Formats: sequence, C-alpha cells, structure tokens
Amino acid sequence: MALNSSFLNRLAGGLVAFALLAACESAPQNQRAEGVQVGQNSSFANLVSAEQVEQSSAQAYGQMLQEANGKKALAPANHPQVVRLRAIAARIIPFSTEWNPRAKDWKWEINLIGSPQVNAFCMPGGKIAFYMGILDNLKLTDDEVAMVMGHEVAHALREHARERMGKSQATNIGASVLSQLLGLGDLGQTAAGYGAQLLTLKFGREDESEADLVGMELAARAGFDPRSGVTLWQKMGANSAGAPPQWLSTHPAGSTRIADIEANLPKVMPLYLRTKAK
Ligand SMILES: [Zn+2]
Repeated sequence: MALNSSFLNRLAGGLVAFALLAACESAPQNQRAEGVQVGQNSSFANLVSAEQVEQSSAQAYGQMLQEANGKKALAPANHPQVVRLRAIAARIIPFSTEWNPRAKDWKWEINLIGSPQVNAFCMPGGKIAFYMGILDNLKLTDDEVAMVMGHEVAHALREHARERMGKSQATNIGASVLSQLLGLGDLGQTAAGYGAQLLTLKFGREDESEADLVGMELAARAGFDPRSGVTLWQKMGANSAGAPPQWLSTHPAGSTRIADIEANLPKVMPLYLRTKAK
C-alpha cells in the first residue's frame, strides 16, 4: 500500500503530539501503587540534558578520587568500611530504577574518603562518596548508613542537580558565582563548568524533604529499618553541638525534619516489614 508523504508527515506529527501530551499527562511519581508520593520534576531540568550532567559528574568524581588518592586518602577496596558501604549500596541500588529508568545504565561507584569531615554525597549518575568522619563520629549503624545513602541516592535519582543547573543556566549567574567562589575570576567560567558546580551544590528545602522521603523508601524496600532515620538525625543534632559538620551545613537537623520523618513512617514501614519477612 502506497501512502503519500504528506499523510505520513501528518501521521508522524500526530504521533509526536500524542506522545507529548501523554508525557505531560503521565505523572508516574504521582500514581504509585504503594510507597511514597512526590511531585513532578521542575521543567528547569529540561534545559540541561541528563547525559551532560552525568558526564560532568563522572569527570568531577574521577578528579576527586584522583586527588584523594594522591593524598593517600582513598580507602582501598578491601577496607572493612568500604566493603560495608558497598554491601549496603548493593541492596539499595536494585530499587533505584523505579525512580529513574536511566539508573539501570549508571556505572555506580561507592568510595570512602579518609577525611574527618562528616559528609557524604551521591553525584548524578550514581557516584557515591562517604567520608570517614560520618561513620566514625556518628558511629552509624547499617540502618543509619542506609538512610544517609538512600537520601543522597534520592537526590541523584530525582535529578535535583540537573534542576539546579537548569535554573542557574536560566538565570545565567551560576557559572560566574561559582568562578568567584573558586577564586577563578572571569577566566574560570568555562573551566569551572558543570563538574565543579556538582561538588558545591546545595539543595533547597523542598528537594531535601523529597530526598528524605524517597531515600527512606529506597532503604525500607532494601530491608533497612526506616525508624533509623529518626536516630540518624538525633545523632546529627547531638554532633552539631561543637563545630557543625559539613553534611549538617547543607542538611539542617531541625525538629521539623525528625517530625516529618516520623509522620512518613507509616508509608514505608510496611515495605520494610515485607522485605524483612522474605
Ligand atoms: Zn540532601
């Protein structure tokens, strides 16, 4: 059967329009059968491609590891805490694709930096780092480590960094502010690029609540007790009495944070108990 090209064009146009409409109308994170619900991602994320963000992230992460290694501050693969962190990550990662289908192709990396900083992060594309200080100072249990990891992984899965970059690109001030921060002046703007932004990102309150919620669910599905979210933040709060740890400067451990976590426990406890029963 011969179809003329204008018909094909119209058909293709119609399909594209339909697909766009379907994409706008489908809000997968709002229609989950169980677990926690979150809103749509900000459309600012569309200003920067996910590939671009993940690529910059991999580069910045690689540089960071190299630097740590040069200072003999990169824990080897057979370090008991590295073994522990990777075992916890291996349980959480399988549940990540439900939140972001790209995650199945991510080259996940989990490393431990031998620094007393109380800090941890997961960069876009699944590049996780824990600092020795967060494990040592807070004496975290496996469940509590899973809460921190789940939280950081949730930022990556929900593409909060991509949103922030999209926003900074929209306002076109991100790069120059960053150059000033790094003391690079105007010349540094291009060199600073995305990678450096990724290492200095702070998320807003909304992204933080979302990461708490999604992180708690990931950890609960992986069989980690979500109630440890409460003890984690209590420990964080107690630890902040002296010099505030790095992680706390971007993650305030206010009483509302703990109250929010407690209020959300009923949504994730059944997932935890189901995994534990298996
Ligand atoms: Zn966070």
